[in-house]
Amino acid sequence: MASDATERTDGTEGTDTRPCEICGRPIEAIRIEVIPATRLCQEHGQMFRKFGGEFIVRSREDKTSKENSLKKNYAGVTTKLTRNEAAVAKVRREYEAVKTAKT
Ligand SMILES: [Zn+2]
Repeated sequence: MASDATERTDGTEGTDTRPCEICGRPIEAIRIEVIPATRLCQEHGQMFRKFGGEFIVRSREDKTSKENSLKKNYAGVTTKLTRNEAAVAKVRREYEAVKTAKT
């Protein structure tokens, strides 16, 4: 008897996860869905909060007018997500400290 079950068990979950930059555990899929650029698991994302967050959002107004033009012409605002590298170092150090304290 031919079964026409369309179930697929090849791991097609839609969201691909990646390991947390701090602890190496896979990041929660739901978290990646909410913050696609994250490289941290839930736990370590929280730790970043006290250091100002995982990302620093910088916005800049794009000027399209010429230098000498009196008319200011802003085409829009560019927001840029920058990794909070200082916090990465701090959280990593904290994580290592906790890990060594446990042993
Ligand atoms: Zn983690």
